[in-house]
Amino acid sequence: MTSIKLKTPHSGEYEQPTGLFINNEFVKGVDGKTFEVINPTDESVICSIHEATEKDVDLAVSAARKAFEGPWRKETPENRGRLLVKLADLFEKNADLLAAVESLDNGKAISMAKGDVAACAGCLRYYGGWADKIEGKVVDTTPDTFNYIKKEPIGVCGQIIPWNFPLLMWSWKIGPAVACGNTVVLKTAEQTPLSALVAATLIKEAGFPPGVINIISGFGKIAGAAIASHMDVDKVAFTGSTVVGRQIMKAAAGSNLKKVTLELGGKSPNIVFEDADIDNAISWVNFGIYFNHGQCCCAGSRIYVQESIYDKFIQQFKERAQKNAVGDPFKHETFQGPQVSQLQFDRIMGYIEDGKKAGATIETGGKRIGDKGFFIEPTIFSNVTEDMKIVQEEIFGPVCTISKFKTKEEAIKIGNNTTYGLAAAVHTKNLNTAIEVSNALRAGTVWVNTYNTLHWQLPFGGFKESGIGRELGEAALDNYTQTKTVSIRLGDALFG
Ligand code: ADP
Repeated sequence: MTSIKLKTPHSGEYEQPTGLFINNEFVKGVDGKTFEVINPTDESVICSIHEATEKDVDLAVSAARKAFEGPWRKETPENRGRLLVKLADLFEKNADLLAAVESLDNGKAISMAKGDVAACAGCLRYYGGWADKIEGKVVDTTPDTFNYIKKEPIGVCGQIIPWNFPLLMWSWKIGPAVACGNTVVLKTAEQTPLSALVAATLIKEAGFPPGVINIISGFGKIAGAAIASHMDVDKVAFTGSTVVGRQIMKAAAGSNLKKVTLELGGKSPNIVFEDADIDNAISWVNFGIYFNHGQCCCAGSRIYVQESIYDKFIQQFKERAQKNAVGDPFKHETFQGPQVSQLQFDRIMGYIEDGKKAGATIETGGKRIGDKGFFIEPTIFSNVTEDMKIVQEEIFGPVCTISKFKTKEEAIKIGNNTTYGLAAAVHTKNLNTAIEVSNALRAGTVWVNTYNTLHWQLPFGGFKESGIGRELGEAALDNYTQTKTVSIRLGDALFG
């Protein structure tokens, strides 16, 4: 069996595929292995799904290779774009179901899941638009030479995605890869395989030829590692932890030197100046850390507030955090659902204990909510020092630190006091401060008087240890194309 009937409170009964999606068909794994998918809201088993091992990765890669060398290579850019736009339309048509499955499996609030699905459609449609606009150049060197430079697809792309935005990462990865003419083997995170498989049915419905997009479920150390070290995968794109990012790069280096792009962790500073609109700044700071339960690589987890407004700010921020509705992801008013898994829950609680032991003060939160499901109170630590683990390491949960700064120079210095460089934010009404600080912060994205306002038209990615390459926007096309120079000698004059 490669599907099962499931139910969500939002969508009612639906058909959940459980197989590996290879060559446009759902199949069992070669070794017949399965694994359980856990509901983070009540810790029950949702279902079991088929697990990919190295052998299945081989099958998916050869399907992708065959499609790349065959029908997909011959497809016109216009048609590649048309298929992506069709896929975007199908995301919109099936938005309620996709969002419901996302909430069931990941625990994210249904209103946020709906936002994710809308952004998936936006992203797929945007890259559909790029498919026939990938252009080359003619370069004059000598009068008897004609040179043209063209962009070609890289080939078979392995894509490994995390559990925090299962569908969104699916579309960020597949959109640009397919627009540029590549084929794909995408592995979902073992915690959240369900929505990607529902979305896989739409790939077939949209009309993509078999093998162009293959979706497999499995574990990082087995299927993920097999992709990263595969000799017939031309490129690997990974989103996840910095620790695993390093392993992916090593695996690429130790195999066929496949191209690597990485979108990794962060410990982003959110800096509030005394002239900011305080109410707005509090809303964005709150959204910056607690959106998606703090499970964002760009979460604004280090909050720095200028001395003169610190006391007022912390009081109001605390009150605001306490008002965040935490609970059942299927209730429309819920803002924060459970953390994704027992492992993540334990990691976050471990950081909270560590912060307490290091002498930081819990302003609010710090505890589990209820005794079923992985719910954690929105937590704020004050009285922190820069060397504490809770200030330096990515917690990936609803936990932030807050401290004061005196001057702009100090804000820039502490803002940059991290090995990461994914995002940052500045809150101020002063244009000079906004620009000066934004330019000085070493981060791939800087938000001014806002937070987390990502858009598929804008590049996203990391400075420093937050990654290599950029996703989204035109910049993502660079990740999925390679440059070919063709130099033609003109005339028939004898050489030499
Ligand atoms: P987290 O620690 O938040 O779960 P990971 O970086 O471990 O994040 O996981 C992100 C993705 O990377 C998942 O799809 C996971 O299966 C995969 N992964 C984990 N370890 C490896 C590995 N050694 N090689 C390739 N992929 C991996």
